[in-house]
Amino acid sequence: MPIPTPVNRSLNDIPVYQPGRPIEEVARELGLPAASFIKLASNENPLGPSPKARAAMQHVIASLHLYPDGNAFYLKQALAQKLGVQPANLILGNGSNEIIEFVGHAYMEPGADVVVSQYCFAVYPLVTRLFGANLITVPAREYAHNLTAMLQAITPDTRVVFVANPNNPTGTLASKDELLRFVDGIPANVLLALDEAYIEFLPEADRADFVAEVAAGKRPNLLLLRTFSKIFGLAGLRLGYGIAHPELIAAFEKIRQPFNINAIAQAGALAALADDEHTRRTRENNAAGLRFFESACRELKLEVVPSAANFILVKVGEGQRVFEALQREGVITRPMGGYQLPEWIRISVGTPAENERSFTALRTVLAR
Ligand code: PMP
Repeated sequence: MPIPTPVNRSLNDIPVYQPGRPIEEVARELGLPAASFIKLASNENPLGPSPKARAAMQHVIASLHLYPDGNAFYLKQALAQKLGVQPANLILGNGSNEIIEFVGHAYMEPGADVVVSQYCFAVYPLVTRLFGANLITVPAREYAHNLTAMLQAITPDTRVVFVANPNNPTGTLASKDELLRFVDGIPANVLLALDEAYIEFLPEADRADFVAEVAAGKRPNLLLLRTFSKIFGLAGLRLGYGIAHPELIAAFEKIRQPFNINAIAQAGALAALADDEHTRRTRENNAAGLRFFESACRELKLEVVPSAANFILVKVGEGQRVFEALQREGVITRPMGGYQLPEWIRISVGTPAENERSFTALRTVLAR
């Protein structure tokens, strides 16, 4: 018997998001022990969670029979203080992915236009199509967002523009001036979701910082998206946040499910926020890793896209074949065919030993 036909007809042609492959899944498939694999596929933090976060999370386990604080009071207070905003400027999500979905609930419907760039984060088109909105994809320039063309692509029906800066999967970064012109150019009736999942990897001087302006109420159409999945090393907890005008946050609060941030996540993130030493070490490890990959690829005459994030795109020829061969060498990377980049793979920065191992494997595979 067929299932009842879903009323959301978009479901007929939306693909399922393909994440980086988990170590256990690849190990099972290849019949090898999980310990023989490294995963450099999902831009996670190779140093792991902060030791302070681990201890705080252990502590919460004894109280897991209780629901979490639905408003995450202490976490929001700490985050607000760290950012120089009010708690009313913050919305928490089960990963920043969930906040992208909130944007869909609040701003998308059939007939609405959503502007993205070619090579944008895959979840923006998925959510746009889920809500039946119309996707306008603007061709990239040298793998980066063409922000001028994106402004020109805005129509009277445009409700949302998504920009990740630095971008995933390309690692490209818009200059501060360019980004400021772009943000200033977004019409007041259009929401700009500026996704800053990787912003903490940038040196402070390279960051275009809109947080203070949002806090001062000067950017009512700007939503900044951040996450604990990258520099904080807590991807498994699922915690992201948005920074925006209190009225926008109040609208999102109506969409948010009551206990979307679990108790372990609240405790872990609160402790991670206070561990500046861990984020500093992560940033240093990442900068060294990017230097390693850029120079190693140069030696092998492999094209890379210079990256401002914690991963690098490498042009390897047949991306899918190289990805599969690397997997057999115990190294899980990300093929880029789904991003219209079939000749490229994306490698997340690991520890120095993981970077060496992945590059040695890449050299071996390409020499065959
Ligand atoms: N935005 C961008 C640009 C990303 O690369 C990612 C993670 N891949 C996310 C959002 C989602 O991150 P999370 O849901 O783990 O916070």
